[in-house]
Amino acid sequence: MLFTGEAKRSNLHMRRKTRQIHVGDVAVGGDAPIAVQSMTTTYTRDIESTVAQIYRLEEVGCEIVRVAVPEMEDALALGEIKKRIHIPLVADIHYNPELALEAVRQGVDKVRINPGNLLNGRKSLEQIVAAVKERGIAMRIGVNSGSIDALDQRAKMQRIQVRLREDGVLEKTDPAEARRKEREQLAERMVSKALEYISWCEELDFHEIAVSLKSSTVLTAVEAYRRFSQRSDYPIHLGITEAGTLVTGAVKSSVGLGLLLAEGIGDTLRVSLSAEPEEEIPVAFEILRSLELRNRGVTFVSCPSCGRVEIDVISVANEVEKRLAKVQTPIHVAVMGCVVNGPGESRDADVGLAGGKGKGVIFRKGQVIRTVPEDQFLDAVLKEVASLLPAREASLVYPEGGIKDVAGMHRTRDEGMNIPILKS
Ligand code: SF4
Repeated sequence: MLFTGEAKRSNLHMRRKTRQIHVGDVAVGGDAPIAVQSMTTTYTRDIESTVAQIYRLEEVGCEIVRVAVPEMEDALALGEIKKRIHIPLVADIHYNPELALEAVRQGVDKVRINPGNLLNGRKSLEQIVAAVKERGIAMRIGVNSGSIDALDQRAKMQRIQVRLREDGVLEKTDPAEARRKEREQLAERMVSKALEYISWCEELDFHEIAVSLKSSTVLTAVEAYRRFSQRSDYPIHLGITEAGTLVTGAVKSSVGLGLLLAEGIGDTLRVSLSAEPEEEIPVAFEILRSLELRNRGVTFVSCPSCGRVEIDVISVANEVEKRLAKVQTPIHVAVMGCVVNGPGESRDADVGLAGGKGKGVIFRKGQVIRTVPEDQFLDAVLKEVASLLPAREASLVYPEGGIKDVAGMHRTRDEGMNIPILKS
């Protein structure tokens, strides 16, 4: 579902114009909003677990889901999974083209392949293209930096050279320069491969293609995507592969994807994390919201707290954000520690809390609503947020009868930090 303003182009940079393809009912490329994807971690053949995980992904706003299809048993489960979920299903295939053909028969909305690692290379790709063309579905050509070097025997990793000359002078190449050249060469090989695979598809008059050029090295991926975007108008699936755990992966993805999106490059994205896939979706939307490319969900502002604060802003902010994780209606919420920045940020938000000494002022749409003690912060903020949401989402945020439990601790300068509040 789209929300007001979501289809608008970025006001940061003009988004690069790409062809539009469709993955099920989700448009990718052209003027379509940048779609957010994830990938399940379950065994696909375990239909119950896979569907349950996809439901969790749907709840937090995932728009396209990919599943791994390593064996025929997994491929044969796809039809049942597809029947039970509500977002487009993508089959992730390596090596065996028969798996892709079965996935297509099972009714998936897209197949993701790396033609470079398919058995019988081009011949297999041609079979898959014939199948997806007949079903009218899309295909992603996924080129990864790791597989390129394995494929391309000519590729030699450039090493930093250090040499002691006879006259005693230590001579070494500039590491930064050597790395830049290495990065450019690898990116160029990735782009060349992607363009070659695209040309194979075009010879078969197939154009429902998205392309990814992933690397676990942020700057290599950025270089590859930039180069590709200058030479092709096929829609681009952005990702930093094997980016790492929650913090590491979120930072690498934000830097890499942020650089590209700010330049108008990218039509769909996945943030890859060594975490539950549901964790990937808020990170992806946060990147898009930060660049004003999407406005779905909660724009959240909270202060880090400091020696001026006299409420436990960290606990309150974390608890409010956690409880708003499933909200998809665009809404701006602020949780602030004190009068320095609190009233300003809270007034600018749809709902805001500006802390004082063990109490806080609640704002709604720029107006002061009331002042509440710290043990009522959570109830007061969530009640106001719920009042601005559609009924279905409001009930997720604010249960009938209100919020009885209290977020964590409180602190004041007189009493010190981390004094537990007595639960009501
Ligand atoms: S709003 Fe107040 S408590 Fe929060 S960081 Fe700023 S000065 Fe510190």
